[in-house]
Amino acid sequence: MIEVKEPKKELPIIGSIKGMFAVAKHLFQKPVTIQYPEERPYEPDRFRFRIFLSLDDCVGCTLCEQVCPNKSITMQRVERENPRNKRKIYPDVNFGTCTVCRNCEEICPTDAIYLTHVFETARTRNSFTYSPEELALPEDEVIK
Ligand code: SF4
Ligand code: SF4
Repeated sequence: MIEVKEPKKELPIIGSIKGMFAVAKHLFQKPVTIQYPEERPYEPDRFRFRIFLSLDDCVGCTLCEQVCPNKSITMQRVERENPRNKRKIYPDVNFGTCTVCRNCEEICPTDAIYLTHVFETARTRNSFTYSPEELALPEDEVIK
């Protein structure tokens, strides 16, 4: 049988004093919160999020679509002249399911698709999917 130990009893005032010490200890420390967006958060070098696509470099090989573990990439037909992409297919990306694993970037034979530090991708539309053309735009030019 397991013996259950009674917790040590202490005067209620001791708990209050400990609480006051805990508060006092943090009073003069620098806050960990920042006034975003006026202040920018610290971004580690290896932080990555928003995916970009170079339409000129994409050869439509579909490797990025095949390697994506979350099926976040679907190839789409885009009517544009590109002698390197005869089938005229380019990836879109659903950022609602993308887990930023970088598989697509690593497998791409032409470095056409790559992740960046950009992370402010909030949208009012009910879709997190960026078309190939939107992936090629700077974030502030994407219609949200
Ligand atoms: S980063 Fe990973 S999850 Fe996101 S689109 Fe690329 S392969 Fe898919
Ligand atoms: S982005 Fe890269 S991996 Fe994906 S279809 Fe284009 S060339 Fe192939």
